[in-house]
Amino acid sequence: MTPGADNREFPEGAAIRPDGMPRRDFVKLLGASIALAGLDGCIREPDQKILPYIDGNNGVIPGVAQHYATSMTIDGFATGLIVESHEGRPTKIEGNPDHPASLGAAGVFEQAAVLQLYDPHRARRVTAGGRATTSQAALAAFAPAALANRVGATGAGLRLLLEPTSSPLTSAWLDRVRERYPSSRVYFHAPLQSAAQLDASRQTFGAPLLPRYDFTQADVVVALDADLLASGPFHLRYARDFSTRRQRPPRAELYVAECSPSPTGNVADNRLAASPTVIARLLASLLSTVAADPRTAARAIAVDHSASTLALSEAEKAWVSSAAGALLRAGARGVVVAGERLPVECHVAAHALNAMLGAAGQTVVYNASPIVGAGEPSHDIMALQADLASGDVDTLVILQGNPCYAAPGNVPLATQIKAIRNTLYLGMYDNETARASTWHIPAAHFLEAWGDSCACDGTESMVQPLIAPLYDGRTNDEILSVLAGAPDTAHALLRQNWQRRYSHVGDIGAAWTDAIQRGLVMGTQPPVTTNVRADAVVPAHRALIASAQAAPSAGTIDAVFAPSRAVYDGRFADNAWLQELPDPITKLTWDNAALLSPRSAQQLGVTSGDVVEVSVGNQSLRIPALVVPGHADGVTSLAIGYGRTGAEAIARGVGVNVNALRTSVAPHAAIGGRIRGTGDHVELAVTQGHWTLEGREDSVLGITPPPAPSDTTPASSQPRKRRPLTLYEPPAPSSAGFGADQWAMVIDLDQCTGCSACVVACQAENNVPVVGKDGVLASREMHWLRIDRYLSGPPETPSFDTQPMLCQHCEKAPCEYVCPVDATVHSDDGLNEMVYNRCVGTRFCSNNCPYKVRRFNWFDYNDELTPVEQMVKNPQVTVRERGVMEKCTFCVQRVRHAQRDADLAGAPHTGPVQTACQQTCPSQAIVFGSLTAPDSEVAKLSNDPRAFSALAEEGTVPRVRYLSRKRNAGA
Ligand code: SF4
Ligand code: SF4
Repeated sequence: MTPGADNREFPEGAAIRPDGMPRRDFVKLLGASIALAGLDGCIREPDQKILPYIDGNNGVIPGVAQHYATSMTIDGFATGLIVESHEGRPTKIEGNPDHPASLGAAGVFEQAAVLQLYDPHRARRVTAGGRATTSQAALAAFAPAALANRVGATGAGLRLLLEPTSSPLTSAWLDRVRERYPSSRVYFHAPLQSAAQLDASRQTFGAPLLPRYDFTQADVVVALDADLLASGPFHLRYARDFSTRRQRPPRAELYVAECSPSPTGNVADNRLAASPTVIARLLASLLSTVAADPRTAARAIAVDHSASTLALSEAEKAWVSSAAGALLRAGARGVVVAGERLPVECHVAAHALNAMLGAAGQTVVYNASPIVGAGEPSHDIMALQADLASGDVDTLVILQGNPCYAAPGNVPLATQIKAIRNTLYLGMYDNETARASTWHIPAAHFLEAWGDSCACDGTESMVQPLIAPLYDGRTNDEILSVLAGAPDTAHALLRQNWQRRYSHVGDIGAAWTDAIQRGLVMGTQPPVTTNVRADAVVPAHRALIASAQAAPSAGTIDAVFAPSRAVYDGRFADNAWLQELPDPITKLTWDNAALLSPRSAQQLGVTSGDVVEVSVGNQSLRIPALVVPGHADGVTSLAIGYGRTGAEAIARGVGVNVNALRTSVAPHAAIGGRIRGTGDHVELAVTQGHWTLEGREDSVLGITPPPAPSDTTPASSQPRKRRPLTLYEPPAPSSAGFGADQWAMVIDLDQCTGCSACVVACQAENNVPVVGKDGVLASREMHWLRIDRYLSGPPETPSFDTQPMLCQHCEKAPCEYVCPVDATVHSDDGLNEMVYNRCVGTRFCSNNCPYKVRRFNWFDYNDELTPVEQMVKNPQVTVRERGVMEKCTFCVQRVRHAQRDADLAGAPHTGPVQTACQQTCPSQAIVFGSLTAPDSEVAKLSNDPRAFSALAEEGTVPRVRYLSRKRNAGA
């Protein structure tokens, strides 16, 4: 953490009531209480029977949470979840351990989805021409009796636009609609969808296949612009697999070349900042080097050897040489991953490399894409645009997504949609597309819906509601059934489709129950055996070489468009938890920015917060710059998903919409743009300088001084073993007189990618409020767990370290002895506790805490929540009010719950307890447990040679210990 110029814990003005803060910003966070008061009255009991996860008890016991399996789908791919429900009210989401895309972990979007369910800004009424109407009236206008009059008997004037889907149910109902209207056409669009991966596999293998990686078997991973551990449909599994592999010797090596630093780059052994042109150069050279090596002779594929003449910089040469050497040593246990949004030729090169290494079938397998119509023209936005422009369309049905916001700048979808005579939009928000449509029906949130979907390996996943629709929302399948002339409820549609598809199963009722309880149908799609078509590789290699040789024009800059790690493509923009989540790399909240390398920023004469104008073609926009060490030179990264103009009060006006710079030809990167400073400056809510540790970064990271020349162990593998200054030996944790258990946590810095899923999990579990952009600017953010980011080395090629920082539950806690009212005290089992109703808000404890992990409630952030917003609160955790301190409790509610169970069972020790942050962590970086329990994992790890205490010299004796980061020497 870089110490800021102002190292006061709370900056001047932090205590000032935000009268100067735009009331709109403050109030919208607290909820539109008057408008929505009494909305809880809209909730009705679910009509259909839902089934608890596996062995659950069907009877609801007041005060005892129930758990149900369901799935969340993003861009057509499902992730299996387990949702905690209190008396019919979902409050917390975890990963489903049985689901291949989750393995028990959940990411930031899954964790925050429960807040979106209770979002008071969701659309609540059906509208026609902007006026309220009934859903019956809206649906009647699209039933065959009315629709056929407008679109013709065969549906020549009917078009449907959906987000990409892998749902067997939706696929079946699309077929029914096409049977009813054979001349209708269906299109799919998602702003982050890329055709390149499937086009490349069609060229390389003759079929549109998706690669899937098995990192548990990989000794060497080379990732090119692929944030594989923190982004994409299988990233939770990949993070789990990679961390599992890294715990086994010999340690797996990770080589990363990427434009903007990412969580995957954070844990790389060898990371190179690379623009799109440099990525092409690296891949072209890697392909030539590996193809020319005798070790791949048995599987050699012809390549274009002119790549060996490519002029590489010294850093590029070194990266290619190390990565190629490692891959060749690893052979079939090496794997090359090309980022989803890279051009076709990059994917072909990656396929060829994996084939030559023998990795296909070992560390990479292929399966057919489960996405309906994958790789077909129905996914081409230009085909949709041409069709809409033809004048043949009378009725357009848009099922979710927000195409009017997210279409590239050269595709005037918003204008075209407005010009269609009849447009029906099914969407959760009164957003840009709803406003361009004739009819708007609120969509059900996935926690309110029945349905199905597939994981990217083809695993069929069930979508089960946890609550009846709050706002009478409908699902895609319900609308499709209306169009097809057979309307029914989503539950009935799913059940019928299930019976049709599984009619061959003996006990179909039992199979249905098992699928609903587990959240998936066991058994995945088998991988496909495939061979590389050698004739595809040379043209792709030539194309790579050509793009690698394209010299940038003087004064130009490339622009890379990436999903926001907070709001994705804008669909989560109204989620305050996500808006306030510091980006893992930049620590930016409540905004997007033009990310620039230090050198590019210096050449432009701008610094963070300076507003720049970025132009591509004839489009330009103004956006603040943010200088990011480790970013590639000559390129700017722009996150999409911001600059929303719909009715979502939180999303509206946050950040800048960069879609105007994207084109249908180059939706993910624009080469040859321009950038200039404008002289304006805005303040960015970056948390990097907050809660500074007064320049004691080495100690908090456990980094030793440089080793002696004879010592070849990398410095960061040698934890700092400073002992506190004391006359006495610290007593060993005892079970006698202190309670049977002594709770402790160990966090492995070698596993943590900084993804921040744990931060949102803690927020959801512990009712942590949001404070808004102005609150963050005043250092008032309330997160109990923060991910500190440290950089070392030159700004162009820094090393990244991340450290989850939470209350250390010190045995000699400095906060405890300065509290004048005993509001913070120690429990018998080693927890540092907060007694909220004793706290008088002196903040002495926070001042005396060297870790800066205590948060003060400057204002009553919960006072004005609407009844619907209150439903997200965990009833097992106190909702704190103004004027008290709060901080990590080690999820004491979970600990006490487990202790009660142990007491009832007469067990001497509490069974396993998982804290919320531990449970969600995809990398399993966090271990929690009792030091005194038999075979305690946490006790073992506490004594690991890599274990250290942050700021050990303070003598605080923390119950949180860290395991130091390892680095592969020479990688
Ligand atoms: Fe992500 Fe937190 Fe786990 Fe680190 S500890 S990998 S930030 S979930
Ligand atoms: Fe938050 Fe619980 Fe983790 Fe503490 S242990 S940081 S309270 S999730």
